[in-house]
Amino acid sequence: MENIVVIGGGLMGTSATWKLAERGAKVTLIERQEEDYLHGSSFGTARISRSLGPKKDVFSYAHNITVKEVGNIIAFLNAENPKEKHAVEDIYTTSPVSYLFHRNQYDTIDSFRFKKQKKDFNRASQSSAFRKFGMTIPVNTILVRERKEYSGTLNPTELLKKLRLGIAKKGGEIKYGHEVAGLVKKDGGFEISILNTKTKKTNALKAKKVIVAAGPYTVSILKDFAPYFNRVITPKKIAISYLKIKDERYSQLTETEKNTIHNAFPFFSQIGKEYFAVISKPEKNTSPVFKAGGHQKRRNIHDLDKVWTDEPRKKELKWIRKQFRKHFKMLEIYLSKKDIEEVKSYYCVYSDTRSKNPLITPIFSKSGSLDRNILVIGGMSGVGAKGCLCYGSLCADLMLGKEGKPNKMYRKLLNVFSNPSVNLYTRRAKRGRLF
Ligand SMILES: Cc1cc2nc3c(=O)[nH]c(=O)nc-3n(C[C@H](O)[C@H](O)[C@H](O)COP(=O)(O)OP(=O)(O)OC[C@H]3O[C@@H](n4cnc5c(N)ncnc54)[C@H](O)[C@@H]3O)c2cc1C
Repeated sequence: MENIVVIGGGLMGTSATWKLAERGAKVTLIERQEEDYLHGSSFGTARISRSLGPKKDVFSYAHNITVKEVGNIIAFLNAENPKEKHAVEDIYTTSPVSYLFHRNQYDTIDSFRFKKQKKDFNRASQSSAFRKFGMTIPVNTILVRERKEYSGTLNPTELLKKLRLGIAKKGGEIKYGHEVAGLVKKDGGFEISILNTKTKKTNALKAKKVIVAAGPYTVSILKDFAPYFNRVITPKKIAISYLKIKDERYSQLTETEKNTIHNAFPFFSQIGKEYFAVISKPEKNTSPVFKAGGHQKRRNIHDLDKVWTDEPRKKELKWIRKQFRKHFKMLEIYLSKKDIEEVKSYYCVYSDTRSKNPLITPIFSKSGSLDRNILVIGGMSGVGAKGCLCYGSLCADLMLGKEGKPNKMYRKLLNVFSNPSVNLYTRRAKRGRLF
């Protein structure tokens, strides 16, 4: 019998597997895609990572723990093989993170002003934004800019590679191209049927404990086991576009303008449908590739398997380009529609929860009792990546017991993310947290 089986090798499942393997557990990760992970919420090379947040903000805490954990795995990999030279900078690109708020969100903004963060961020009204940040922002808005080491961009693909390497070095097993087709309780443990996607043969694997980290597929994996999860996690699709400034226009920009661009991403606007944009790929002599989308432009999904290859609607892509041009206009760089080149666009999936928070929780069995041998880590929506190793650590603690004494923030983290009833019984939470 395997000790612990983790279902799903995105950022959450892989982080949890690494933390379990690091602590000496016998762990197997099952991922239905091949090693070159192409479809899933963790696909791509850029996510916004931020540490700014109100006092006792669990998302900032999760980010800070993740940065520390990234340092730990890098140190481990380098100690194992000094020739490979892994670095935290392979994963994080430090750059200012800018947030645009409406003036009536002043109270939210004010709550960031707690002592420890004072030196890390600055804010500007419409009259001072150009002087402070080189941006002309709309009337009645406020710009907040965060500058802190390892706030900026996180590269999920690089992080997945290193975590997988770490898992292998610690003796954990990863089965790619294997899909979990069934999960039942049997003989005091779990029986998991696993389909080899190449040979189409199904095998049964027994495990004492299971972690379900299948992103938007979590609901279907639990459909017989814990059917109530269809009320807890609701996958939604959003369109994202990868855009570039055409060479002809980019070559006309001055060096100052090019620097301004680099300082202006990641950008997150809380006005309207919450536009976000981040540099996905910096280039040397041409325009960087920008990834942009609308955080709240979420739509229902009819067929989850097809989402990743469906063409986004023209209307959605037009909206993204419009916001992109507006952002550049704030930087006093005027782009016409023709100056923008679309590299690619596709749908991605957000796994939404009622409480709008991620969950790392044991589940209720059919009899109504709480089963602590099975955990769900999911519902990460648009905030999972930056906290993934913190959530992975929490999984390991819940499965193996916490090492050391929990501090106040850790207890808060448990309370917010790991309360099995919260997502079931809370009303739909309003949005309004930081990205
Ligand atoms: C457009 C977009 C923008 C985002 N931006 C940010 C951001 O700026 N900052 C941030 O911090 N976070 C961001 N996020 C969130 C972050 O990327 C996700 O929270 C995170 O990647 C979720 O990881 P996951 O492991 O839960 O899910 P996934 O990456 O979806 O992983 C689930 C895995 O389970 C596998 N699987 C499914 N079913 C089975 C099965 N039956 N058997 C075996 N394997 C299975 C899938 O193949 C997949 O690999 C964004 C997300 C999206 C979609």
